[in-house]
Amino acid sequence: MAKINHWATWDVRFPTSKQLDGSDAMNQDPDYSAAYLTFGISGGLSGHSSVFTIGRGNDVQVAALESLKPYVLGRDLDELLSDMGLLYKELTGDSQLRWLGPEKGVMHMAIGSVVNCLWDIKAKELNQPLWEVLSDMSPEELAKLIDYRYLSSNLTEPQAVEIFQQASNGRQKRKEQLRTEGYPAYTTSPGWLGYSDEKLVRLCKEAVSEGFGRIKLKVGANKQDDIRRLRLAREACGDGYPIAIDANQRWEIDEAIDWIRDLAEFDLDWVEEPTSPDDVNGHLAIGRAVFPTRVSTGEHMANRVVARQMIESRAVSLLQIDSARVGGVNENLAILAIAAKNKIPVFPHAGGVGLCEAVQHLAFFDYVALSGTKEDRAIEYVDHLHEHFVDPVSVHNGRYWPTDIAGNSQQMLDESISDFSFPNGPKWRAA
Ligand SMILES: [Mg+2]
Repeated sequence: MAKINHWATWDVRFPTSKQLDGSDAMNQDPDYSAAYLTFGISGGLSGHSSVFTIGRGNDVQVAALESLKPYVLGRDLDELLSDMGLLYKELTGDSQLRWLGPEKGVMHMAIGSVVNCLWDIKAKELNQPLWEVLSDMSPEELAKLIDYRYLSSNLTEPQAVEIFQQASNGRQKRKEQLRTEGYPAYTTSPGWLGYSDEKLVRLCKEAVSEGFGRIKLKVGANKQDDIRRLRLAREACGDGYPIAIDANQRWEIDEAIDWIRDLAEFDLDWVEEPTSPDDVNGHLAIGRAVFPTRVSTGEHMANRVVARQMIESRAVSLLQIDSARVGGVNENLAILAIAAKNKIPVFPHAGGVGLCEAVQHLAFFDYVALSGTKEDRAIEYVDHLHEHFVDPVSVHNGRYWPTDIAGNSQQMLDESISDFSFPNGPKWRAA
């Protein structure tokens, strides 16, 4: 009957805008940031999680987290851990909190972080990494984690049980394969818009030689620049090497179609976020017009309802998921299940700060216990800021390698939290 008696949040920001790391057509000067959360039992089990933002507004995200403190402090931890859908459904169903969305934006991301923090505690209680905790749950237990409200036209609980049951055969074998073969990674490191041509070419060649199976370039600010940069990347990587592009929501629909057609000669693996992330009809129109070039979105997708529409209308050929955008592990399970049911491949969004660490668990779980495949799938990778984590991702030979450390890999080093706390941490006072 242990009650949650410890809760703390931090506004942690890294001055990445100085090197233009992370720069794209919409986000020219990001300071990668974490609205960071921990709660649990003092002297006992504690969880960690964070919401990724890109600087200004991280204080708003922290305030949203703080507003959830009364819903968590004093709760019986065992009760929450015994039903991992309970807190998620309570918070997303709270009528006054719902008004601030519903189920989208700052408050929904804060709720997702609380849910993720509880999953970290669950995994630590079981002394397993999160991906393995999920992979060991029964089909019925997994299906019970999902909120089917607004999904039933495409996914019901009995259908979800069936999908998870179909994937139960071979779980153990796939777990072993994951440990021996890793999970495909692709890198966005060469492609930031603020990098020089020389740096682009050097990083493209490094990506290929390091074994990454594809790269992704940011586009959408200037078409002639995009053509020049794609030509350089294609030369550096060679014919047939998969190159995706990402416009980060920059275009109108007609503009996207024209722009993508002008870049199609470079044999694009996919075009990511061509327009507003909520515009299902827009993605559908773009996808039809630029076929066979694949169109995708998802990292800014507000929730499972938009995911259902994107998938069932075939507005996207593939989907990104983001660990910190929607209502946590539970809502991402819903999105992964809809994608698996409709045979849409998922290429999880990562990078930022802590996103690689978080989303790898969902991708590993998807391989072991849901889609059962690594074909035409890869987790995004960017080699930034991993040194601030207690259990940083292991990425080499172009692959993510699964962690065996208990939890969700979201815990940051105490020193990093204090050094980069905004605005009074020593790294900011010195800036
Ligand atoms: Mg993207």
